Amino acid sequence: MTSEERRAALDAIASEVRVCDRCRLAGGRSQAVPGEGSPDTEVVFVGEGPGQNEDRQGRPFVGAAGELLEELLALIGWQRGDVYITNMVKCRPPGNRDPEADEIAACRPFLRRQLEALDPALVITLGRFSLQSFRPGDLISRVHGTTRPLDPASGARAATGYAMYHPAAALRQAGLRGTMQRDMAAIPAALMAAREARRADASGIADSRPAPDATAVALEPPSALPSQPGATGGRGTGRAGDQLGLF
Ligand code: URA
Repeated sequence: MTSEERRAALDAIASEVRVCDRCRLAGGRSQAVPGEGSPDTEVVFVGEGPGQNEDRQGRPFVGAAGELLEELLALIGWQRGDVYITNMVKCRPPGNRDPEADEIAACRPFLRRQLEALDPALVITLGRFSLQSFRPGDLISRVHGTTRPLDPASGARAATGYAMYHPAAALRQAGLRGTMQRDMAAIPAALMAAREARRADASGIADSRPAPDATAVALEPPSALPSQPGATGGRGTGRAGDQLGLF
């Protein structure tokens, strides 16, 4: 897909999300929150669901959790516009309750289509609901800061998943802030490894990626941070950031 095609696909999904009534959450929303960011990015963040501020503005992560997410991104020199940010459910659960299984299931086709359009190298799950959807059975306290190949049925055809706590958890529990900072610092290395895995996949090297159920790999924070999450990942896509290429 070209950049224009990706943008058009994302816009079409967003238009459907805004008028969706597939689950009970539609009844309580002010606005649906489809997601936003660069159509050319290699990195997608997936949170849980919109809160009050997001519901008012129709944009993901614009409240306190969003501020912290932006602060964390700044640690590695990234801005929210460099990545794509979306949620498991696109409408606010009443009173910020957890999304229910049938609500997540009803919304999943939108996320799958967003991932198909973006074809990211790295999908970063924020919190346990997002983690459960991409890496069922994994516990956030055990696997945060680790990668695992994603099931292509998620919509992400050849992506690596990277688990992080939800920023709201760090707002509630100050001790998690440092953990989130360390996990964020390891993202550039995870992106480079994810690009390498895609390259190996594309060149048909058998068993170059661990099986989806292989033991998760812990990542050390990189000593030198690569630049933007759009730099060439071996696909020669000409995506934003190619000029900053690391390879
Ligand atoms: N929390 C989320 O999971 N998503 C948002 O968009 C905002 C807060």
